[in-house]
Amino acid sequence: MNPPGGSASLLSDRQVDIIATRLAERLSAPDGAKSPVSAGNSEPRLAPHGAPREALGEGVFATVDDAVEAAGIAFRQLDELSLEQRKLIIASIRESMLEHAEQLACHAQRETGLGRAEHKFIKNKLVARKTSGIEALTPHAVTGDNGLTLTEYAPYGVIGSITPTTNPTSTIICNTIAMVSAGNSVVFNVHPNARQCSMANVRLLHQAIMRAGGPANLVTAIAEPTIESAQALMTHDGIRLLAVTGGSGVVRQAMTSGKRAICAGPGNPPVVVDATANLDHAARGIIAGASFDNNIVCTDEKEVIAVETIIDELLRNMSRHGAYVLNEGELHRVERAIFSEQRGPRRRAVVEKDLIGKNANEILARAGISCSGDPPLLVARVPNDHPLVWTEQMMPVLPVTAVPDVDRGIELAKEAEHGFGHSAGMYSRDIDALSRMARTINTSIFTKNGPFYAGLGEGGEGHSSFTIASPTGEGLTGSVAFSRLRRCVLVDHFRIV
Ligand code: NAD
Repeated sequence: MNPPGGSASLLSDRQVDIIATRLAERLSAPDGAKSPVSAGNSEPRLAPHGAPREALGEGVFATVDDAVEAAGIAFRQLDELSLEQRKLIIASIRESMLEHAEQLACHAQRETGLGRAEHKFIKNKLVARKTSGIEALTPHAVTGDNGLTLTEYAPYGVIGSITPTTNPTSTIICNTIAMVSAGNSVVFNVHPNARQCSMANVRLLHQAIMRAGGPANLVTAIAEPTIESAQALMTHDGIRLLAVTGGSGVVRQAMTSGKRAICAGPGNPPVVVDATANLDHAARGIIAGASFDNNIVCTDEKEVIAVETIIDELLRNMSRHGAYVLNEGELHRVERAIFSEQRGPRRRAVVEKDLIGKNANEILARAGISCSGDPPLLVARVPNDHPLVWTEQMMPVLPVTAVPDVDRGIELAKEAEHGFGHSAGMYSRDIDALSRMARTINTSIFTKNGPFYAGLGEGGEGHSSFTIASPTGEGLTGSVAFSRLRRCVLVDHFRIV
């Protein structure tokens, strides 16, 4: 890599080679696409899932082998560029993703049928602005009698990234910014149900990188992703690191793949409200957080545990702030609609897949309950052992359950979180209780007195990410998580005092 401030006017032999390679790629693909396989007329026009086949080019490849090979070349080309050039690439990505944030949000909502486009717009803008980039990769120096030791953040190489259907574009955006900032290239195997918006996203990223003078195919994707292609990526020799974002199945698969894996798994985030909390503030914050993108975000509040003495007042405040509070009969009807199978008290129920991420009024309609308007959230008081407390429902139906005191609340929150170590929070003005829960619950993100999306950087401080790696411990991933640490030791010299 050239030193920052190195010769800008003369091209090195290596850079001339890179330009020649790119020109050759373009010339061999008349439509501007580097087509690594023949996608000619003999190819079926429909993908296995019935949607039109994805055109190849602009980072989109037919096979895992082709994508990994192209990303490998791009990684080596990026490695030849200066840090200043890498900064220009990241700036171009952020600018393009902000420009297309709304378009990608609408596309993702339309294709997946999950969540709300206006919330996906917020998520895309958030990661475009606040994913940690090159600025986070500050080298570390130690000096002493024996000289100077320097530790720097280095890239891994080609990263294989598996992405979910719940935040398809925001995950692609944040992973790309963090991974490329650290000097890596990436191959995405996206969720098949979010294939088209994800491919559109990859093409825009490819274009933004090229506009900034970056290599072709720094960001690549498999055109027709499947579980099998995800598994092939996990064991591919050309992949140095995996980043997996999804449920328990894919996390388990990645952790047994034999490769280093950064795994962002499921959660069931509890929020405890104690007797000292500002209940008006708590009600507003919980409704805003739990209804965010119709509750499909892994960090969204999934169950409320409230101290008995204030639970009625909390529910009244939630109703006043627009939540639809279900009565007992309505709750039974909603349960029958949203669960395809209940497995008993304190057990996770099986949720009805086609209601995941739907608006509250659609869930009410399915349960046969008439409602005019568009409530953001359905709320129901339930016993502690109700399946809603124990299930990652991913729909705007929020259980509220009572406990005798705050310590029992913290205990129940710990149990309901299932040891995922993902996200949790509390509304309280008792600093001892806040500290006790933060320590006990031991999650990657703990939010005090605010909606849980504040923990993602939306209305809260700190960088953002939609790859929150709890099982493997990186927490909210950023450029540091996708870097290898390398040490260089100079013996006996370069200490200046
Ligand atoms: P999912 O697990 O169904 O799919 C995620 C990805 O993994 C998809 O690309 C899918 O094709 C792939 N996949 C699934 N099973 C696989 C297997 N056995 N082998 C290889 N690949 C496999 O999840 P989803 O429905 O897309 O997303 C929702 C889940 O993901 C929720 O549980 C949510 O909490 C979790 N999630 C976690 C985070 C986080 O940052 N921790 C972020 C988003 C979603």
